Amino acid sequence: ELGNVNSQTTPNDQQKLRPAVAPGKRANATFITLARNSDTWELAKSIRHIEDRFNHKYNYDWVFLNDQPFDDQFKKVITRLVSGTTKFGLIPKEHWSFPEWIDQDKAAAVREDMRQRKIIYGDSVSYRHMCRFESGFFFEHELLQQYEYYWRVEPDIKLFCDVDYDPFLYMQENKKKYGFTLSLYEYKDTIPTLWQTVRKFMAEFPQHIAEGNNMQFISNDEGHTYNLCHFWSNFEIGSLSFLRSQAYRDYFKYLDKAGGFFYERWGDAPVHSIAAALFLKKEEVHFFDNIAYWHVPFTHCPTREEDREKYKCMCNPKDNFDWKGYSCTARFFESMGWPKPAGYEYQM
Ligand code: GDP
Ligand code: MN
Repeated sequence: ELGNVNSQTTPNDQQKLRPAVAPGKRANATFITLARNSDTWELAKSIRHIEDRFNHKYNYDWVFLNDQPFDDQFKKVITRLVSGTTKFGLIPKEHWSFPEWIDQDKAAAVREDMRQRKIIYGDSVSYRHMCRFESGFFFEHELLQQYEYYWRVEPDIKLFCDVDYDPFLYMQENKKKYGFTLSLYEYKDTIPTLWQTVRKFMAEFPQHIAEGNNMQFISNDEGHTYNLCHFWSNFEIGSLSFLRSQAYRDYFKYLDKAGGFFYERWGDAPVHSIAAALFLKKEEVHFFDNIAYWHVPFTHCPTREEDREKYKCMCNPKDNFDWKGYSCTARFFESMGWPKPAGYEYQM
């Protein structure tokens, strides 16, 4: 019988009572997934990848959020795959709806126009709520309040190498605030006025711009224009206190008031990335080169043969997106003053 999985003791829960395999300390951290009930089976695959490559030894918690209540099948199937504690949360209505200052007719006209121009997700209301939620609200959810670090996981992702260390502890011990694996250029048509809005924000809130930031990653002309580079946010390992900071809150509020989540189709990836580039010192952003990752259609495979050997990788290095023309990772390396890793030229 199905019942309420949260109150049943299953063989799987018994197993969870065993101590985690990896000894030593843990960070205050959780996985976080936004999903629909219809994502159950694609998400199951992602969880197996994360568990098999990492979490079965560490047993970190996993928070699932949805704008609709999760059904019993979702909770049952997902709970048995996660080695840590699972928590299922409903998103409050005010975090998944049109704010009162949005002109509905204008927003609908934009969607119709973007539909005709075939802009990806351009005609979708739910995708816009999703992007706004991931930009400004997920870290406010009550189930996340107790945590300091998060790792975002989407349905249908893959990991190609063992993660034989704790990336959360890595973030903590090295004072990192935001971590990524893939970067690329955004579709200009989804964010026509994002940068002018950011520029107005910077002029009004100069106190939020960090000294030693990484403007160079997101602009080729010292902030005059946006070069469309962003970290791909379907993978993120980050600090929740960064997102809860006054700088980030003021920034999200400012963007939200400008209306671009609905009058355009601003994505959470450029929104997070611009914040990480401007409000953090550049050393606080971490490139997780040794976490090999796939989300359709891009692969991050470690460039160096020694890493692929050490972490038992199963990705084809030729598939590595980092050094290809549409990636921004070469630009990230330049902004950091790093030489490119050995072997990169075979992956261009
Ligand atoms: P893409 O990666 O940009 O193509 O977008 P996805 O379809 O993967 O959506 C991004 C994330 O938001 C995934 O974790 C989805 O499961 C989740 N998501 C997208 N739309 C919705 C929605 O309407 N409701 C809920 N609960 N989750 C959604
Ligand atoms: Mn996705």
